[in-house]
Amino acid sequence: MAEKDLSPDLAIAALLEGKSRREMMVILARLEQGGAGIYQSFAANERNEKARAALLAGAEREEQNSALLKMMTAVKDKCEKCGKALAPPAAAECCSFQCTFCPDCADNMKHVCPNCAGELTARSI
Ligand SMILES: [Zn+2]
Ligand SMILES: [Zn+2]
Repeated sequence: MAEKDLSPDLAIAALLEGKSRREMMVILARLEQGGAGIYQSFAANERNEKARAALLAGAEREEQNSALLKMMTAVKDKCEKCGKALAPPAAAECCSFQCTFCPDCADNMKHVCPNCAGELTARSI
């Protein structure tokens, strides 16, 4: 790979190549967290008031995106219904937001997340 003509698209593709959805989310969460700081430093050096406000709003969105991805990738260590210990490698079922339940509670709830109504499927980490 010729480092010098590494385009932004290629750099990002190289970063995410071969990664699972979960790994991509973890990486993106970190990038967006860093991005928020970069937006803030752009804003600190921006003299145009409207541009500064726009950059600060951008920083806030980056933080929100990062927080969403962190929530969607956080591994929970107990059932949100009955409190049973579920630290991996214990079997557990999760929705897309990583709400986590023990197999018994998931069965009782017909594999539907009570928080978001999403499908509960076997956790894979
Ligand atoms: Zn449970
Ligand atoms: Zn859910």
